[in-house]
Formats: sequence, structure tokens, C-alpha cells
Amino acid sequence: MAELFYDDDADLSIIQSKKVAVIGYGSQGHAHALNLRDSGVDVTVGLREGSASREKAENEGLAVATVAQAVAGADVVVILAPDQVQRIVYREEIEPNLKPGAALVFGHGFNIRFGYITPAAEHDVLMVAPKGPGHLVRREFADGRGVPVIVAVEQDASGSAWDLALSYAKGIGGLRAAGIKTTFTEETETDLFGEQAVLCGGVSQLIQYGFETLTEAGYQPEVAYFEVLHELKLIVDLIFEGGITKQRWSVSDTAEYGDYVSGPRVITPQVKENMQAVLADIQNGAFAKRFIEDQDAGAPEFTALRAKGQDHPIEPVGRDLRKLFAWVKPSDSDYVEGSA
Ligand code: NAD
Ligand code: MG
Ligand code: MG
Ligand code: MG
Ligand code: MG
Repeated sequence: MAELFYDDDADLSIIQSKKVAVIGYGSQGHAHALNLRDSGVDVTVGLREGSASREKAENEGLAVATVAQAVAGADVVVILAPDQVQRIVYREEIEPNLKPGAALVFGHGFNIRFGYITPAAEHDVLMVAPKGPGHLVRREFADGRGVPVIVAVEQDASGSAWDLALSYAKGIGGLRAAGIKTTFTEETETDLFGEQAVLCGGVSQLIQYGFETLTEAGYQPEVAYFEVLHELKLIVDLIFEGGITKQRWSVSDTAEYGDYVSGPRVITPQVKENMQAVLADIQNGAFAKRFIEDQDAGAPEFTALRAKGQDHPIEPVGRDLRKLFAWVKPSDSDYVEGSA
């Protein structure tokens, strides 16, 4: 059984006694910075010169500095820049300014696991990774709840890295739900696998194939959109609440029987073999290498794939339909429909 931590297991005063620099003010960065601030922690946000996020952070009343300035004054440096730029920011702006004995906190283990960042032995290296998008991490905290976090210590130079990690996790509200003990290796490999095989890659491809199958058979795109995309949220809500069993209980017997007989025809054992191949490429570093090499070349593959995804016929159908739903409100102020 995994080891779980709750608010009572952590001492908030530890993180409250530190100066914290949060590097990056994106999805996770804004949530960590604001939740820590509201937990009584001294936070400075470190951003590039001319960053578009500067005004947003300042409007929230947060102190904003350059990365170098924020790091120089900090006991705890939280690295929440995009994974593909972290090693460059670390090498050029963080490492040269890091106080002796300062702790480093990551929100995902990518750069440590694949060796892109190797902190000196004197630094505690921790991970507090919310298991949810940053905007939910902030919204749940503001509502008095929290998104579960997974917590790991890669390097315990001070001997008290776990106490700091749990205090930090409490500060962002994660232990209101639960903290789960893990390692950088387990978090990195399972996170990449989950998003590639199931949550993002698997689900996106499943929706697109479902939409193509119906529209190519002559059904109306708007009806196909409802059946294979819109209703997915309602099904996932049931799975989230009570597992696959609750979902099967709630749907009609017709749908439940169809699940049993047709699910395994669509998702065959071959799909599991494909998943194992994806996992192997994560474990052996091939995925990380491909991602970083493409990013270093200016992201030609990433940019082309993003454009191709946005051109899939289900996207304009959804954009037009969603405008007609009075109840769908954007929950993320950074995201503008049609501009991603
Ligand atoms: P993001 O792209 O939303 O935001 C990145 C931020 O870093 C932006 O404010 C950007 O301006 C800033 N930035 C970019 N380049 C910079 C530089 N050179 N110097 C300083 N700041 C720079 O990133 P994100 O999705 O929040 O991801 C941050 C980390 O959190 C990653 O390690 C990611 O894997 C992890 N994570 C993200 C989520 C999520 O909800 N998005 C969930 C769990 C873990
Ligand atoms: Mg994840
Ligand atoms: Mg991830
Ligand atoms: Mg239906
Ligand atoms: Mg039923």
C-alpha cells in the first residue's frame, strides 16, 4: 500500500519560515505561487525580462523579479518553467545564483530523471507534483479543497528534505486531499505513460477515430460530436466518482452490454502491446531525447503536429457547437477558443 500523507502529517511553519522563489507563472506556477502566498509564505515569482506573465503576477499582488534576482534571495527555488527549457534556465540563471544549501522543488521529474539537470550534492531536491492541471490546483484551493499531490525526495542533503516537502505540499493545499509518496523515477515514467497512452494521446485518438467512423458512414458531424466527445465528460465524471463499475451501473443495460462485447473488439490486446512499446521508449529515454532534440531545433515536429491536430474536422464542429451551449463557460482565462 502506498504511503499517504495528510495535513496533520506536515508542519506548515517550515515553509512559512523560508523565502520561496517560484520560477515560471504558467499553469502550475501561478497555482503554486498564489496558494503558497495565501498560506502565509513569502513568495517571489521569477520571470524572464519582458515576460507576458509579469503583469498577471503583479496584478495578484505578488512580488516579481528576474529569475536571477528571485533565486539569489531564496531558500527554496521551485522550477515551474516548461520541461524543455528548465535545463537552460537552470544552467544559465538558477545554478549561478543558488544560495548554498538552498532547496530545489520540481513539479515533474523529467529533467532529473533523464539527467538534464544534475544539482550539486549540497542541495535538497524535492518533488511536489499535483495530479491535476494547474488551474484546478488553484480553483480547488480557493474553494477550501485541494488536488492530490505526489511527493518525492531525490536528494536529502539537509536531512530534513521530507519535512520540507510535506510542508510545501501542505502550503499548496495538496494534503487537504492526500500526498502520495513516490520517487522521481516512478513519477516521471508513470506521468509520461499516463498522458501518452491514456489521458491525452489515447483519448484524443479514440475520439478522432470515433468521429471519423460515424461521419464517413454519413452521419451528421454535430450528432457524432455529441456521441463521441461531449458525452465523454459525463462518463468520465461517473468513473471518477465510483470507478468503471459506477459508470456501468448508471448507463443503460444496452450500453453496459455493448461495453462488454465491443470494448475489447476496439481496444484489442495489440493496443496493450503498443502501450508496452510506448512505456519502453519512456523508460529508455527515447521519448525524452526525441522531445528535447525537436525543441532544441525550434520544435518543427511539435509545431507541425499541433497544426495537424487543430485541423482535424471535429475541431471546427465543436467550436461552433460549444458557442450554442449556454452552460459551457471557459474556466481557464488564458485559453481563448479558436486561438490555441
Ligand atoms: P506552462 O507552459 O504553463 O508555464 C511555464 C511558465 O514558465 C510560463 O509562465 C512561462 O512564461 C515561463 N517561462 C518560460 N520560459 C522561461 C524561462 N526561460 N525563464 C523563466 N520562465 C520561463 O508550464 P506548466 O504546464 O505549468 O509546467 C510547469 C511544470 O509543471 C512542468 O515541469 C510540468 O511538467 C509540470 N506539471 C504541469 C502540470 C500542468 O497542469 N500543466 C501538471 C503537473 C505537472
Ligand atoms: Mg500527469
Ligand atoms: Mg505530465
Ligand atoms: Mg448515447
Ligand atoms: Mg446500468
